[in-house]
Amino acid sequence: MEKIIMLHNVFTGARLTQAFGENPSMYKKYGLRGHEGIDFVLPGDGMIFSPISGVCVVDHDTIRGDYGIFVCLHDVQQQIMLWLCHMRYNLCDQDQRYMTGRHLGKMGNTGHSLGKHVHLMLCRVRDMKRLDYDNGYKGMIDPLGPDVQWVPNIPGTGV
Ligand SMILES: [Zn+2]
Repeated sequence: MEKIIMLHNVFTGARLTQAFGENPSMYKKYGLRGHEGIDFVLPGDGMIFSPISGVCVVDHDTIRGDYGIFVCLHDVQQQIMLWLCHMRYNLCDQDQRYMTGRHLGKMGNTGHSLGKHVHLMLCRVRDMKRLDYDNGYKGMIDPLGPDVQWVPNIPGTGV
């Protein structure tokens, strides 16, 4: 058994709109067994904070592509990568480190998206390469599954 992944619950008030693995027929064309992440809607103006401490390894600032404006963070300690997609904008820069609770951007509707939401994806990596790439989800695992523990916000960060 791999180590449990710890994510901080910085998404207060989030409402889940699509779980991991749902809608296989919609994701078949992408070579996936189903939805490869979780979708949720944030309350208010949709501020997105970082659920991990990690280095920005992808800073995608254009609306082109299925994920629209997105950011991918690499947590070296936990050996995971985490994506936050369809953002209205992201404040991240390539190779910069972002601590848990940092404001990363805002929820949006960019890319292949049918309304404002956050698409969060997670995978384990070794040397930046996804583990279990052949798991039917290109290595992505369920962020609400047994491998992941969501822990309360960090005291004092205000998020
Ligand atoms: Zn999604």
